[in-house]
Amino acid sequence: MNSDHQQSSSYTHNSSVDRALSKIPKLARELTGADYAAITIKQPHGELRIFHDGLDKNIKWQDKELPQGRGLLGRLGPVDSPIMLSDISSHPDSYGFPDWHPPMKALVGLRVFARKGYKANLYIANAPDNREFTVQDTETLTQLTQFVEFALEFAELHDKERRTRIITEATENRLQAVIDGSLAGVVIVSASDKLLLGFSKQACMILGCNLEVGAPLSEINKSVAFFGTNGQVISEQDLPIERALTNGIETIASEMVLHRPDGSKLPVLVSAATIRIHRGEIDSSVLILQDLSDILQTERMKSDFLSMVTHDLRTPLALIKGIINGMDVDTNANGEIQADLESIDEEVDHMTELVSNLLDMSRIESGTKRVDNEVCHVTDILSDAVQRASSFRYGVDRTVTIKVPKNMPEMYADPGQLGRVIDNLLSNAMKYTLGDVDIICSHMSETDNIRTEIADKGNGIPVTLHPEIFDKFFRIRSGKQGGRDGAGLGLAICKSVVGAHGGQIGVKSNDAGGSTFWFDIPRERLDR
Ligand code: ADP
Repeated sequence: MNSDHQQSSSYTHNSSVDRALSKIPKLARELTGADYAAITIKQPHGELRIFHDGLDKNIKWQDKELPQGRGLLGRLGPVDSPIMLSDISSHPDSYGFPDWHPPMKALVGLRVFARKGYKANLYIANAPDNREFTVQDTETLTQLTQFVEFALEFAELHDKERRTRIITEATENRLQAVIDGSLAGVVIVSASDKLLLGFSKQACMILGCNLEVGAPLSEINKSVAFFGTNGQVISEQDLPIERALTNGIETIASEMVLHRPDGSKLPVLVSAATIRIHRGEIDSSVLILQDLSDILQTERMKSDFLSMVTHDLRTPLALIKGIINGMDVDTNANGEIQADLESIDEEVDHMTELVSNLLDMSRIESGTKRVDNEVCHVTDILSDAVQRASSFRYGVDRTVTIKVPKNMPEMYADPGQLGRVIDNLLSNAMKYTLGDVDIICSHMSETDNIRTEIADKGNGIPVTLHPEIFDKFFRIRSGKQGGRDGAGLGLAICKSVVGAHGGQIGVKSNDAGGSTFWFDIPRERLDR
C-alpha cells in the first residue's frame, strides 16, 4: 500500500466513536492482507457513512457516488449470511459499487449486528496474491464486527447523552433569559447548603446589594430586612425564602417593606416557590421580588385625583341638598313644584351615595384606605348613621329602631368606616324595601365580638344569591321594590371594611319575610 492509500472518512464527526470506527478498515486489511476494506453504516435517520482504507484518499465522496446497497451490497441487508466470492466480476449481482471504484476480485462482506436501527456492513476486497479469502479471514473479520457493534452501541449512548446535554443547556439558557428579561428580582437558592445558585440583575437593584453565585443566603439576610405591612420586622425563620427552603411553604404575592443597606425603604411584593426533585425532596427555592413603588405611586395619584373630584362633586351636592331642605315646600301651593323638588332631592341623594361609594372603593383598591381605630361606642355610630339617613329622601316617613343593650361595652374600631357600613346597609334597607327597619346590637361574650343586625321587612333576597351578594358590581335585576339603580358597590365596600377590622359579614332571610344583614366586629383589635 502506498501512503496515498490511507484510510479516510466520508464525514468528519470527530467523536471518539468515529476515531475507533475509522481504525477498523485498516485493522481488517492488516489482519487479512486485503487491498481494500470498508465499513458502511446506515444511521437510523438514513444518513450513510463510510470508513474505508486502501482507496485513494483524494477521491471526492459525493452523496450520489456513495454505494446504495444495491446488488451484492444490498444482499447483506435482508440475509444474515456473509458474502464470500472468489471473483466478484463473475457474479451476476456485482453491481451497486460506484464507477470510480478500483477493480475488485475476491470479496468478503459481513453484516454487523448493530442495535436500534443502525445497519452496518464490513467488507474486504482483493486478497493477497490474487487468491481467495480464507475461512480464517472470515473469522477474523467476524471478530472485528463485534468491535464495530460495541462502538455503535457506544455511539448511541453518546448521542443520547449529547442530546440531553443540549436540551439541558437550552433549558438553562431559556430560563436565564426569562429571569434576566423579567422586571421582577429573582434569586434561586439551593436547599442543601443555602447558597445562591442564580439571580437576575433586577434582584441586585431591588435588594440594593451585590449578589454572587455561590454566596450564602445569610449574607443577603444580614444586609437587608423585610417588614410586614403592620410595621413589624419579619424574623429570619419567617422569611418567605427560608420557609420555602426549610418547610416547602410557598408564599404568593405577600406585600412587605424592604429595608435596604443604604437605609432606603421599598414596598415590595414577595413570592417564594419551592423546586422539588424526585420523591418530593426540596432541591431549591426561588425568591421573586416585585418593586411596588411605581404601582403604589400611580395608585396614590389615582386615589388623590378621585378624592379631589369626588370632594368637588360632593360640595355642590351638599349645597343643593341644603337649599332644597331649607325650602318650605308645604307652603307652596303648587303640588307639581313640590314633586319636582322631591325628585331633585332623591337624585341628589343618589348622586351623593354613588360618589361616596366610588371614593371608598377606589381607596380600598389602592390600599390607601387604612383602618384608623379608636375607642368608640356602637350607639354613637348607629345614632349618627340614622341621623344621616333621616335627611335622605328615602328616609322620609320611615321608622328606624335602634336596640342596644344598656351594658354594651365600648369597642376599639374605626367609627368613620363602621358608620359607612351602617350607611350602606340602612340605605339598602330603605331603597329596596318598604316598612320599618330594626337595628339590633349585641355583645357576644364567647367571642368578644360586637354584632350589629339590620333587619328589614321587604321581599327578602333569594337564598341562592346570598353567597354572591357581597361581590363587587353584583345587583339583583328583578324583584326590586322601589329604589333607584345603584352601582352594586355598597355591600362590597361593607365586606372590605368589616374584613379590615378582622370581622365577618353576612345576610339571612327573616322568617316573617325580609332580610337581616349582620356583621361582627372584634371588640378589641387583636394586635393591640
Ligand atoms: P347598590 O349600590 O346597587 O345598592 P349593593 O352592593 O349595596 O349595591 O347591593 C347589591 C344588590 O343587593 C342590590 O342591587 C339589591 O338588589 C340587593 N339588596 C341589597 N340590600 C337589599 C335588601 N335589604 N333587600 C333586598 N335587596 C337588597
